[in-house]
Amino acid sequence: MPRCRLCGGRSNLFLSEHRLPLCKNCYPKWFLRITERTIEKWKMFNKNEKVLVAVSGGKDSVALWYSLSKLGYNTSAVHIVISETEYSLKSENFVKEISNIIKSPYHIIRIKNELGKDIDEISKELKREHCSLCSIIKRRLLNKFAFENNYDVVVTGHNLDDETASLLGNVLRWDLKYLLNQMPVLEKKDNFVKKAKPFIRFTDKEIKLFSQIEKLPFIDERCPFSKGAHSILYKEVFERIEKEMPPSKWTFYSNFVKKIHKILLNSKEKEENLNKCKICNYPSSKETCSFCRIKEKLTIKN
Ligand code: AMP
Ligand code: ZN
Repeated sequence: MPRCRLCGGRSNLFLSEHRLPLCKNCYPKWFLRITERTIEKWKMFNKNEKVLVAVSGGKDSVALWYSLSKLGYNTSAVHIVISETEYSLKSENFVKEISNIIKSPYHIIRIKNELGKDIDEISKELKREHCSLCSIIKRRLLNKFAFENNYDVVVTGHNLDDETASLLGNVLRWDLKYLLNQMPVLEKKDNFVKKAKPFIRFTDKEIKLFSQIEKLPFIDERCPFSKGAHSILYKEVFERIEKEMPPSKWTFYSNFVKKIHKILLNSKEKEENLNKCKICNYPSSKETCSFCRIKEKLTIKN
C-alpha cells in the first residue's frame, strides 16, 4: 500500500499528473502549497498587492478565491453577469455564498448595463457564436474595472485542462497572436492590467476534489451558451491522450511555455501586436480592436 508523501500515513489518492500518492487529509495542504509555489515561481503577485479575482461561480474561480484568501492574499472579486437566464442567477448566488464564507467583498458587472444587451441578444444580433463574443467582452470589462479601481493584478481560474485545450486549438490554427498571449502571467502594459493564472498546475479533477473536500459552493453545470464549443472537444481529445501517455498535458503546456514562447517573442507577430485601437487606445493588431468593433456594430444597428 503506497504511503502519503506528506504524512506517511495510508494514501487513498494517487495524482497521476504529479505521480504523487496522498491522503485526503493532506490533499488541501498540498493544493494550497502548489498554488503558493506557482504564484511565487511566476512572480504573479505578493501579499501587499491588490488582487482582483474574476469569479464566475464555477468550481475553478470559487476555489481560487477561497485558496488565495486562505493563503492570506489581499483579494476581492468581480463577477460578470452575462445574461438574464437562470444559470446566471444561480452563478451570482454562488459568488455571494463564497463571499460570505471567506468574508471578502465582490463587485457585479452586468453586460446588459455596459452594452445595452445581454450576451444572448448580442449573439443573435451580430449572428456570431456566444463563446468568442463572451470572452472578448468579459476580458475587456474585467480589465477596465481593474484599471479604474487600481488593482495590481487580475487572476482567473484557468487550469491545466483549459490551457492545454486552448493551446491545442491555437496550434491547430497556428494562431500566433493567441499563442503569444497564452502565458501564466501577462505583464502590465499601459492601460492593460497584469493578468495571472495561479491554477495552471491543476487539472479539472484536482480542483473539483479540493472543492469537495473543502465543501465549497459552486455551480456544477455548463454555461447554456457553450453548447458545441470547440474547447469541449479539445478537452475530450486530451483526456484520451493523457490516459495513454501521462503526463501529456503538463509536458505539452510546460514545453510551450519554456521553449516555444521564447521563439514567438522574437517573431514579427510580436511587432503586429504593438498597434493601438483608434477608438479606445488598447493594444490591437487591427485599426479598431475586437471589443470596439462589437460596440460599433451594435450601435449601427440600434
Ligand atoms: P471560462 O472561460 O468560462 O472557462 O472561464 C475562465 C475563467 O474566467 C474563470 O475561471 C474565471 O476566473 C473567469 N470568468 C469566466 N466567466 C466569468 C464571469 N462571468 N465573471 C467573472 N469571471 C469569469
Ligand atoms: Zn478599441
